[in-house]
Amino acid sequence: MSEEEFDYSGCIYDALVVGMGAAGVGVSAALKHAEIENFMGLDRQMVGASFARWPKEMRFITPSFPTNSVGMVDINSVALGTSPAYGLQVEHPTGLAFASYLNNVVDAYDLPVLEQIDVKSITKEGDLFHLETSAKTLKAKHVVWAGGDFQYPNLNGFEGCEHCRHIATIPSYAGMKGDEFIVIGGYESGIDAAYHLAQRGKRVRVFDEGCPWEAETSDPSIALSPYTLERLRSETFQRQVDLFPNTPVEAVLAQDSGFQVTTAKGQNFKTPIKPILATGFAGSHTLISHLFEKREDGYPLLSEHDESTLVPGIFLCGPAVRHEGEIFCFIYKYRQRFAVVAKRIATSLGLGAEVLEIYRDWGMYLDDLSCCGEECVC
Ligand SMILES: Cc1cc2nc3c(=O)[nH]c(=O)nc-3n(C[C@H](O)[C@H](O)[C@H](O)COP(=O)(O)OP(=O)(O)OC[C@H]3O[C@@H](n4cnc5c(N)ncnc54)[C@H](O)[C@@H]3O)c2cc1C
Repeated sequence: MSEEEFDYSGCIYDALVVGMGAAGVGVSAALKHAEIENFMGLDRQMVGASFARWPKEMRFITPSFPTNSVGMVDINSVALGTSPAYGLQVEHPTGLAFASYLNNVVDAYDLPVLEQIDVKSITKEGDLFHLETSAKTLKAKHVVWAGGDFQYPNLNGFEGCEHCRHIATIPSYAGMKGDEFIVIGGYESGIDAAYHLAQRGKRVRVFDEGCPWEAETSDPSIALSPYTLERLRSETFQRQVDLFPNTPVEAVLAQDSGFQVTTAKGQNFKTPIKPILATGFAGSHTLISHLFEKREDGYPLLSEHDESTLVPGIFLCGPAVRHEGEIFCFIYKYRQRFAVVAKRIATSLGLGAEVLEIYRDWGMYLDDLSCCGEECVC
């Protein structure tokens, strides 16, 4: 629905979902299952906008497979009864393909969505949240923040960051001019950038403050995924890419002939092209930090229902969800909390939401976090 078609007058929503990416669409499907009727998903652009902005060549590292028929949800699904592998017929979707899957979920579930609404700020007055938007002020009893991370890159961290180009601003590696590149950050998106540049015959140097390609854990939130490790071993990557582990970058200086990258070890490297920043994302949760207590690592402190411990009624969904040492940064992790949030909102509205129990059968309802953190033995 467009802004012009929508009548805002006097409406108080039971819930507003801010952001219609993987998290917003998924939690909206759970709200619908819980029989909450008066809710609305909002997006500053459109459903799946962040995925549509991924570099054209970038693909999901988590593989899709149509496993639903034996009671296991496709690892990249955000809603029961759906499978990106089935609909898209690819194992590792591009961002654009995944955006089309999210739009299909919106259609299949008939989810209410208002696009082109940018939420500027949120306050709570009495029992109601007031959302100042690019259009009008919207009011709701509950808010689910699902603004994601991709549109909020980390542009700080060392002197001269402004001379670099963040991977979130690269539409495609195909059009990139130059033969020699420096990538700062060697986790998933940094190695992805190096891989695509190497495929195009470029020489690439990757600097990382640690050594993610040798991390000894089975948790892909910390170690590189098998998909990426496989790429790392490819002949082209081995030939074209030099990896510099345990080499934090301290500064980037713009010079007449290009850029100088200085490391904490005191080494200087020259490059004619803007260094590529793959140092992660500040995340959209920074916009709502006044409504949450903060953990030591800066992420919002959440109740067992992913609700604010400071301002009841506002929830966080998506990759910024943290519980103790557990990082819910992948879809297959954070989707297990959609039903937890939907249940909490439903019960506060006086609805039973018993139907959400079915999410347990599908591994989509994680309310006992004691199982988390298990390592694989082999
Ligand atoms: C480069 C990269 C690769 C990743 N690869 C994988 C992977 O392979 N597998 C996996 O499981 N996970 C992956 N992730 C992690 C995670 O699944 C993604 O970050 C995912 O996009 C998060 O979904 P989201 O809905 O929280 O955020 P987004 O997809 O970013 O959606 C947020 C939405 O909110 C809207 N929005 C933002 N701010 C506002 C506002 N103020 N007002 C209104 N609307 C707003 C945006 O337009 C956007 O549509 C990856 C993450 C990144 C950054």
